[in-house]
Amino acid sequence: MKTTVLAGMAWGVLAAGAANTIPPYGDVRLKGPIGERLEQMVKNHVRATDTAYITAPFLEKTERRRWWQTEFWGKYMHSAMPFWTYTKDARLKANIEEGVACILASQEPDGYIGNYPDDLRCGEGWDVWGMKYTMMGLMHYHDGLQADDERAKKTLAAACRLCDYVIDQLGPDGKRGRHLWETGNWCGFASSSILEPVVWLYNRTRRQKYLDFATYLVKDMTEVEAGPRLLDLALKGVSVADRNGYGNKAEKGGGYVMKHNRWKSYEMMSCYQGLVEYYEATGRKDLLDAAIATCDQIIKDEINIAGGCSASEAWYHGARKQHLPYTHQQETCVVTTWMRFVEKLLQLTGEPKYADELEKTFYNIYLASLNRDATEFAAYTPLNGYRSRGHHHCYMHTNCCNANGPRGFLAFLRALFQADGDAAVMNMYATSSETVVLPKLDERVTFDMYTLYPKDGYVRIVNHTVKPLAFTLKLRIPAWSARTSVKVNGTAVKDVKAGTYLALARNWTIGDIVEVTFDMTARAHVMNRHVAFTRGPIALARDTRFHDGSISETFRRNSMKDGQEVSISSARAPSEEFWMAYQAMLPVGSHTENPEGRNLASVMFCDYASAGNRWNPMNSYRVWFPMEIHPGDD
Ligand SMILES: [Zn+2]
Repeated sequence: MKTTVLAGMAWGVLAAGAANTIPPYGDVRLKGPIGERLEQMVKNHVRATDTAYITAPFLEKTERRRWWQTEFWGKYMHSAMPFWTYTKDARLKANIEEGVACILASQEPDGYIGNYPDDLRCGEGWDVWGMKYTMMGLMHYHDGLQADDERAKKTLAAACRLCDYVIDQLGPDGKRGRHLWETGNWCGFASSSILEPVVWLYNRTRRQKYLDFATYLVKDMTEVEAGPRLLDLALKGVSVADRNGYGNKAEKGGGYVMKHNRWKSYEMMSCYQGLVEYYEATGRKDLLDAAIATCDQIIKDEINIAGGCSASEAWYHGARKQHLPYTHQQETCVVTTWMRFVEKLLQLTGEPKYADELEKTFYNIYLASLNRDATEFAAYTPLNGYRSRGHHHCYMHTNCCNANGPRGFLAFLRALFQADGDAAVMNMYATSSETVVLPKLDERVTFDMYTLYPKDGYVRIVNHTVKPLAFTLKLRIPAWSARTSVKVNGTAVKDVKAGTYLALARNWTIGDIVEVTFDMTARAHVMNRHVAFTRGPIALARDTRFHDGSISETFRRNSMKDGQEVSISSARAPSEEFWMAYQAMLPVGSHTENPEGRNLASVMFCDYASAGNRWNPMNSYRVWFPMEIHPGDD
């Protein structure tokens, strides 16, 4: 097997740096409109999931098409168990128990849990990927129970037996005689992402065999010429769309599903999630560096104005092509995986830019992908067009995106409020109550937050910590908020800088009030003779329900400049289907001979999350608008 120059390369083993503490589920409670949306999603989607249905294939083991029926249960458990901890909903718990019982009953004597017949196991297709999600599902269940609970022990034991099976078949001396990365597609991305639950298993059992297997996987993921190459390409600064070895093209003669290709975004990010877990377990910092380099490349080259990314789940230099009609934009699986990735790096690095990204993704593409009654997630959500439900997958009445969707809300919830040494860190702004123990002081602090943000820029935070205490409250000041006002008990705070944390270190007393007013100035964004608009973290869209003219109408030539402030005002929405509605006077329309940009017309906008939320082709919307081209232009 050919190896890259990185084989044998020296890497330092450093102690993993201190990460932010995330409060247990339930210690941060969302209220207000975002909290209602979460409750609605848990009730109508997560709790309504039929676990007997999604676990039935595990008992049948008839998967000869090499499909992915076995991913649905593990993805479901990723949010179901945390949301049970959050809600203590008895019906949700009953559903969970039913599914777990079925999964445990399906385990074979050799440890296998899946639906592939023996001759096809651990080979092409999604079998290893399915086992990855099953291991994760079992550990989510385990983690939601008390460690001494017999069911927790039994479930962890089942995850161990499943991992033992994978090692026995695909480990260094595996019976299948192939490396794990050689199974499945995308240069081994999908299968290699099993690293994440393998490290989880090591963290929960401290068994050396799991760390050894993780080390074996990391070597293949970073040193093999034809493998995932998640280290050298990242550290060389190769953009994610250019890592596949064929240019930004499908492999020669290949269809969409490719053996040798590295442009699959969901699976690539899932691998980095595992490499970051391995860094935390071992201190191997070059892997964290590669993950950070990759994340930063994604922000620069792929993330669009709505915080989404990918076309047909592939990287495609999407940031600079987002105004074009690329196919299958912003798959919900990619969006939720991006939210997990960026939330993890926020926790590890404490860099506010990752919180800015998570916020943008959450309030735009994520909320947009959830339908109005919160029963299902869209599979693809374009920037211009209309929304619709995803197709059924694998002959089942569900799909990957419906299974993955609820995990995104969890990433937002985990990021909202954290602890860093002697500081409480407010990363997100939404009406909520939150409490956390500050590790350096071993003291609990509690706050309530009241806001209509991001519809409104005003946020009020009240200290509810009963004991008078000296500590720091860190507030994220988003990079887009150029002029932010902060007051503590009515006194203005100086030197508030965008794109940083504002550290308020003082003796806090119960009832102390912090008031923040963010700069919600609307701005134009211009790219390749197209224009789009944002207000705070929100991408704005025209929507046919406003009946205010053609949503595809061009803007006058050169009438808008990138970064230009735009005067808009709140407007009455035509119905309760809208979260936000605005009106602006803008230079649209090329049908008149009036001087360019002089004759302004009224244009209505809504927030991107509300745009097209009837999920009907008659309700279309648009984010990017073309600007006129003159005969003399290039
Ligand atoms: Zn999907």
